[in-house]
Amino acid sequence: MNRIVDWILSRKEHARQPLCAYIYDLEHLREHVSRRVRTLPASCRLYYAVKANSEERIVKELAPIVNGFEAASLGEIRKIRAAAPEIPVIFGGPGKTDEEIEGAIALRVSLIHAESEHEVRRVAHIAARKGMTVPILLRVNLRGPLPDATLAMAGRPTQFGIDERQIPDVIRLAQNLESVKVEGFHFHSLSNNLNAEKHVQLIGYYCERAAGWAKEFGLDLSWLNAGGGIGVNYAELQRQFDWDLFIEKLGPMLERKCPAGVTVLFECGRYLTASCGYYAAEVLDLKRNHDKHYAIVRGGTHQFRLPASWQHSHPFQVIPVGRWDYPFARKEANDCEITVVGQLCTPKDVLAKDAFVARIRIGDVVLFQYAGAYGWAISHHDFLSHPHPEHIFLEHAPGKNNYDGSQRSLDAAAYRSFT
Ligand SMILES: *Cc1c(COP(=O)(O)O)cnc(C)c1O
Repeated sequence: MNRIVDWILSRKEHARQPLCAYIYDLEHLREHVSRRVRTLPASCRLYYAVKANSEERIVKELAPIVNGFEAASLGEIRKIRAAAPEIPVIFGGPGKTDEEIEGAIALRVSLIHAESEHEVRRVAHIAARKGMTVPILLRVNLRGPLPDATLAMAGRPTQFGIDERQIPDVIRLAQNLESVKVEGFHFHSLSNNLNAEKHVQLIGYYCERAAGWAKEFGLDLSWLNAGGGIGVNYAELQRQFDWDLFIEKLGPMLERKCPAGVTVLFECGRYLTASCGYYAAEVLDLKRNHDKHYAIVRGGTHQFRLPASWQHSHPFQVIPVGRWDYPFARKEANDCEITVVGQLCTPKDVLAKDAFVARIRIGDVVLFQYAGAYGWAISHHDFLSHPHPEHIFLEHAPGKNNYDGSQRSLDAAAYRSFT
């Protein structure tokens, strides 16, 4: 965080344009993800679901750390292959075209998630033409009700995967097709779960379902993909998903419930990249309308759509900036609740709502935390044709553990922008 603030202050010393940037702490990213990979039980693998943030630099940084990637389009597979020619890649997502399936096979994906009966047939048809057998996982859409202790969100109707009731028929179909081999099942039935114990219980339920089908149909399972969905607590930054508790419960649960010889895959997005990313936007104006305080920042939901898509007030800090270039008084607001909005001509362009601030001035920078996943990647960048934010990837200078002000010029050389 200090590194981020230092970068902002140093930028404000040198640049006249209002600041607007995505800033990534690559060292934090490496440490955070390495620790997750290292602490998983031996029968587990951690993949990164690149749709959360598919910036070239992020994918490159993660390639030597994660066990593989999950891709939801041919475009994503190409991005992954550009960074990591040999790493395992899983290809999932509804509505795959023939071109995508062919491209995925050509780019050596290790598994394809089949999302429907028709997709099983099409993968088999394409593989047969190539004289290959392609390993697939059947994506299961659980009906529920899930065990009491697990989350209500799973088990409601969605367009994803194959209805659990149709799984037996699809297994029988696949068993009669020589060019596909069902190597396991894929479950991704929830998003942003913050409860570690419930997450383990849900995976336990996946294990039971997979083991049941394996037994009934004599399948030789190699994989159980437990999906992503580990959450980030945007409302209380201090209370994040308890990874240590998750690991403590996961190992013994898998020993009890996971069929022998099965590797459990996790394909997390949000949980891996959210915390390394920041969206920094300078306050352009402050006003009080109908007794409410508004801060208008450079940028908005066209660049950082997450708060609008989740309908939440995104956490931020105000970074005080000393610089003031005008010959008249600087406006400020003190000890009040403020709504932070962007530059779009829509009242929905709200980044944070009624958030308490001790002081905020025009020219200060609002720094949104946990912006590294589903931020820039899901935003409609060109609505209103404003310039794009800078994308800054902060690299820690080699051989140095603590960043301090005197080292700024050294680190500045290591800052690289990729836009
Ligand atoms: C989006 C997605 C993920 C990643 O989800 P997170 O909530 O970001 O962890 C994993 N698997 C599938 C199939 C997805 O669609």
